[in-house]
Amino acid sequence: MRVLISADMEGATGVTWPDDCEPGNPAWQRCRTMFTSDVNAAIAGFFDGGATSVLVNEAHATMRNLLLEDLDPRAEMLTGRHKDLSMVEGIQHPGVSGVAFVGYHTGAGTDGVLAHTYLANSITGVWVDTVPADEGYLNALVAAEFGVPVVLVTGDDLACRDAAAYAPAAVTAAVKDCVSRYAAVCRPPAVTFELIRAAAKQSAALCVRAEPVTGRTFQVEVEFDAAHLAAATAAVPTVTRTDVRRVAFSADSAYTMIRAFKTVTTVAAAAVENRYG
Ligand SMILES: [Zn+2]
Repeated sequence: MRVLISADMEGATGVTWPDDCEPGNPAWQRCRTMFTSDVNAAIAGFFDGGATSVLVNEAHATMRNLLLEDLDPRAEMLTGRHKDLSMVEGIQHPGVSGVAFVGYHTGAGTDGVLAHTYLANSITGVWVDTVPADEGYLNALVAAEFGVPVVLVTGDDLACRDAAAYAPAAVTAAVKDCVSRYAAVCRPPAVTFELIRAAAKQSAALCVRAEPVTGRTFQVEVEFDAAHLAAATAAVPTVTRTDVRRVAFSADSAYTMIRAFKTVTTVAAAAVENRYG
């Protein structure tokens, strides 16, 4: 049984503030240890549950956050950016029978610790076929197209709650309870390690490949906090401006959808001005 772990950092143990997950900050250096602990807990749990191999795909910011030297030696880690499937790179390998979203967070425009969708700010909402879509939702659509179930979600309590929208059968582990966008009641890593390990072990039983979900089309809408970001991203082929701060595009596969979405966010990020947004 081969398991993929998609590891994001905002939903990791102890992370509640931008500096905690901003590469280069002293707080980030400290939180990398707790992030690595969360991932190791999931690795341990999956091996407890019968996994024979685990690939960890770094999914946060520069995608260079986890401490390889501290990683459970039974796992391998894909680190660095510019990957075809971004946060769920590795899902396309035919041996993968389940994916875990570790350190995930709620979507843009909602409650939750460091809530956002791809961009830390600027995006105020994303919808797929009119349904609000956070990163877990988008990545779950890609996973489904490859026939891979989402079996485990960890993050704050609200990210775990929201997982029901895209992976109702997944086991969840809340490492902190949201108080505000920048505050949470946090459980220490010694506690969350056991929590995640037990959840991963339980979720290993869900690692059964399904029939790939194909033939779907996706209508995606993205809302920004500023008009010029809609104007800038409307230059991307297939993307049209539908309102002052909104764009939309359609895609005939989840693979195309996630790549087009990534392109929109990359163009938007480049169009943001430091002070005026
Ligand atoms: Zn992140």
